[in-house]
Amino acid sequence: MMQLRSFIANQWVESARAHRFQSLNPATNEPIADVMQASAEDVDAAVGAAKKAFDCGSWSELDPDSRAEILLRAAAIMRRRLRELAEWEARDVGKPLREAELIDIPYSIRALEYFANQAREIQGQVIPLPGQNAFDWVSYEPYGVVAGIIPWNFPLHLATRCVAPALATGNTVVLKPSPLAPVTPTLLGDIFREAGLPPGVFNVVNGGADVGERLVSHADVRMVSFTGSVPTGRRVMELSARSRIIKKLLLEMGGKGPFIVEPDCDINGAVNSLIVGFCLVAGQVCCASTRLYLHERIYDDFMSRLLKRVQSLRFGDLMDPATQMSAIISSAQLQKVEAYVNEARENGATVRCGGARHTKPPFDRGNFYPPTILENVSPDMRCHREEIFGPVLVVLPYQNLDDAIALANDSSYALGATVWTENIRRLYHASRHLDAGIVWLNTNVMSKIEAPYGGNKNSGLGREDGVIGLKEYLKVKNNVLFVGKDYDNFYGFSQ
Ligand code: NAD
Repeated sequence: MMQLRSFIANQWVESARAHRFQSLNPATNEPIADVMQASAEDVDAAVGAAKKAFDCGSWSELDPDSRAEILLRAAAIMRRRLRELAEWEARDVGKPLREAELIDIPYSIRALEYFANQAREIQGQVIPLPGQNAFDWVSYEPYGVVAGIIPWNFPLHLATRCVAPALATGNTVVLKPSPLAPVTPTLLGDIFREAGLPPGVFNVVNGGADVGERLVSHADVRMVSFTGSVPTGRRVMELSARSRIIKKLLLEMGGKGPFIVEPDCDINGAVNSLIVGFCLVAGQVCCASTRLYLHERIYDDFMSRLLKRVQSLRFGDLMDPATQMSAIISSAQLQKVEAYVNEARENGATVRCGGARHTKPPFDRGNFYPPTILENVSPDMRCHREEIFGPVLVVLPYQNLDDAIALANDSSYALGATVWTENIRRLYHASRHLDAGIVWLNTNVMSKIEAPYGGNKNSGLGREDGVIGLKEYLKVKNNVLFVGKDYDNFYGFSQ
């Protein structure tokens, strides 16, 4: 079993009054890691180490090339350990090893490489002030100590998505992984130390809400990069607002992705991309496509192809390359998914497939729920309005595209939205009118590190990834230099 402690100033630290908890493999409910929960003193020590490292300038004042060299070394170490990291990711999250090897770990390596290189290119701006004997330039500076708080569905990917840009731009970091999947983010401590990161630049504390709140409230934390649910994001805002110095916030929260299918689309392409949209990581993805708006002219044809494909998805041993479906992260989350589906059924929804947890061995040991499709759903039902975070798709027919767009926009979320049609004018019309941070047109859930990722409304504030995401980790300074001598009539205040 993996033993995890706090990582502070390049040391694994055992807390004086350590509480411990275990991380379980969701596919078997067996413990795979024994984790030390950070005490309040540990959190303070981690922030203290990060502040000391920032203030001494050994990282924040280092030129971007030298910072990049260390981050690229960390990426190379991760590449060397790819298989091992993928195995831990698969067991901690309950996802197929093939997925962790193909998606999670390569994406995390790419994040380090991309942000290390992009940070070299950050340039300021000169604002000409002709005739004023003055020179104005804009520069970018790191915030200081950044708290990274992340969920469990893509642990290493979401850790590096915030840690890489934060470090590449000269900040120092205290990372708090989710207690449900803490292994790979915590292993980053070893990876960065081996790569040569100075002590205190990267620190990890483990635990749940208490540890998170202590970190967010700490007076020396200048920025919080949070990924997680809307209620926790609201709490992070509240705690920041109450701090003596309000913190810069970057919030990536939930979604309820609409998926609009027009009658002229490539139906097979749409079906395949929808399956990924609501079944990847068993639907436990923020930008999952969970609301299908289906044009009534192709309703029956599309549904029969969708049902056929869904029923052929394979559950199995996570280490088997043929396995496609993940487990649900915890028994509590499994119960939540069941409750949503049962309530929908009681309120008149029709369950077209799935609808009950797997109870046959060997799946009864873990938290497995089959892809579930609900029809006869009305827009005000909770299964249509709320993020379920499980493999549950609701289907509503529509007659014209603007009705589908109106349904899509009538949500408190606005993260990803998808449209399928061969008509370029309707694609453009939909992309203009959908309220979403990302609009996928004849594709789905594609996310590239080079492009900004994030949502509007309750789905978030700000953007991760891309140059836009990198700049979130930098504050802007406007510098004005007056080189004239005439102060006698400054702003009309003559002497
Ligand atoms: P969560 O909000 O329960 O937890 C997220 C993190 O916050 C965890 O590390 C948790 O320990 C910590 N936390 C919990 N309470 C806290 C508090 N009071 N103060 C500070 N920290 C606290 O979310 P989750 O269940 O881990 O993740 C699922 C959610 O994350 C879903 O809503 C999903 O849509 C969202 N998500 C969003 C994105 C995105 O990029 N937009 C990506 C992945 C997941």
